[in-house]
Amino acid sequence: MTFENLSPVLSDALVARGYEALTPVQTQVTQGEAKSRDLLVSAQTGSGKTVAFGLAMADELIEDGRLPFATSPLALIVAPTRELALQVSRELGWLYAKAGARIATCVGGMDASKERRALNQGVQIVVGTPGRLRDHLERGALDLSALRVAVLDEADEMLDMGFRDDLEEILDATPETRRTLLFSATIPKPIVQLAKRYQRDALRISTVGEDRGHGDIAYQAVTVAPADIEGAVVNLLRLHDAETAMLFCATRDNVRRLHASLVERGFAAVALSGEHSQNERNQALQALRDRRARVCVATDVAARGIDLPTLSLVVHVEIPRDAEALQHRSGRTGRAGKKGTAVIIVPYPRRRRVDGMLRGARINAEWMDAPTAADVRQKDQERLIEKLLAPVEHEPEDLELAQRLMAERTPEDIAASLVRAHRALMPPPEDLLDNGPRGRDATGRPERGERFERLERSGDRREGFEDAVWFRLNIGRHQNADPRWILPLLCRRGHVSKNEIGAIRIGPRETMFNIPRAIADRFAEAVQRTANQDGEDDSGVAITPAPDGPTYPPRRDKGSGDRAPRSTLGRAPGGDRAGPRAPRGPGGNTERYKPKPYGQRSPRRPAK
Ligand code: AMP
Repeated sequence: MTFENLSPVLSDALVARGYEALTPVQTQVTQGEAKSRDLLVSAQTGSGKTVAFGLAMADELIEDGRLPFATSPLALIVAPTRELALQVSRELGWLYAKAGARIATCVGGMDASKERRALNQGVQIVVGTPGRLRDHLERGALDLSALRVAVLDEADEMLDMGFRDDLEEILDATPETRRTLLFSATIPKPIVQLAKRYQRDALRISTVGEDRGHGDIAYQAVTVAPADIEGAVVNLLRLHDAETAMLFCATRDNVRRLHASLVERGFAAVALSGEHSQNERNQALQALRDRRARVCVATDVAARGIDLPTLSLVVHVEIPRDAEALQHRSGRTGRAGKKGTAVIIVPYPRRRRVDGMLRGARINAEWMDAPTAADVRQKDQERLIEKLLAPVEHEPEDLELAQRLMAERTPEDIAASLVRAHRALMPPPEDLLDNGPRGRDATGRPERGERFERLERSGDRREGFEDAVWFRLNIGRHQNADPRWILPLLCRRGHVSKNEIGAIRIGPRETMFNIPRAIADRFAEAVQRTANQDGEDDSGVAITPAPDGPTYPPRRDKGSGDRAPRSTLGRAPGGDRAGPRAPRGPGGNTERYKPKPYGQRSPRRPAK
């Protein structure tokens, strides 16, 4: 078998690699019209774009079936991250092996002097990240004066990451006669400007939608209570049991936390983020490749360009910042024609945002609840039965052991022990707080959350809450607000126990709750410490003081004679309506709670 239109050495390499056909982007960049022209290509990750530019640049490089000897590089590929650069280098390595290519990879975090030596010895192809390439250029180690072709891979990402200056400096050091290939998942305005400045008569190629972009990825949006995010991750990992799964977090800290927690639960997990050295990252990737690890927790940047053929599950543990990031992250799976699943974990308060993002990206996602512990157990059973009933050829030694066991125990006992042994290897699934219909506890009483809400809605006051202070949450019934998940959230954010939270009143779009005045300052400070600069936590929940208390749901305070306090909640169109005010102590404590303004924190206690 041969690939038409391609140089025979490259065609042989593709055949040896087991490729049967070119992907759409590969076909387009090698067709007649594209030959020797500058190209502006929008192709998504997973579409085979690396091999595509590898093939496209062959005309500039291959002479008589080989790459000529070169004292300075003929081709340069610039990629946004170290992982992607290393990945590109590997792909070009096998593609151009028979053509006698010498490739140097120049990436941050690696030994720069080694790279300089490699550049000195004469290479035809250089692959690198913008910062490191610029360093080599400025120190005179990289001579781009004989360059024939420059490729910018994931150009949109490089501009997003602030590499514009580096790219311009690099391109300005190349001859005007060079051919410039610009590959980018999207073509926003800055890319158009870059293309205008550095390309001539570029042929625009777009295979998005036509190629294998996200066609092979099934998207699921899984709604959860904010406190259930980690539990949902555990259950998703257990339910899918993917050979390799990648979990995305927004920050290094969150990567570290989730990774530690998964390892503690018994998952074979590795972490990839900016805080890891190149060596650590390489080890993590190697562990994933040789299956010592099956789960990778990563930040967007660290995971860019990673190509793991066995990766069939991507979980967006934290919502990506935009639709592009969503696609980039998801594109780690569903590669090269394989099927993949991308799950977005959506805390209730973020539902609308995710819905908008999916619609903007024209992604059809299936909305569903997180898998419950029961779902996981059910799936475990199916898998166990399949595994244990699969035909096996036994070793005589094992059969002998089986006979000894049979002499001591019943077959049922032995089978049950076998099941238990298998089960013990699997991290236990998590009971999620807010899954399933409201139930009753073992005594037949409504579950605690239900009791709690009814108690408070009926206006009862609990002991210890005679002098309490109101706070407001920016979520209500529209965001599935429910004491069952609000309580744990408040405990986590405010560093209080469930018993220290009094009434919870749920309105359509906001929720009020109160806590004893004695601990209100401490609570407010903890809330502030656990919030980001927008005053929200990662799932979009904001807690703010509400000195006026709620007027929702309306209730009559018989005989109080007090005027209802002003509130933004439940106000009748004709003016204020009567409603409760912040609970007052038996002694008629009318002093309003004045929260300390945020920013005026108490000094931290010195660490012991
Ligand atoms: P990329 O879009 O460059 O990240 O490539 C995604 C994956 O597809 C890589 O693992 C490639 O090796 C693989 N690939 C590229 N071209 C083909 C092809 N024509 N047939 C099968 N697999 C391919």
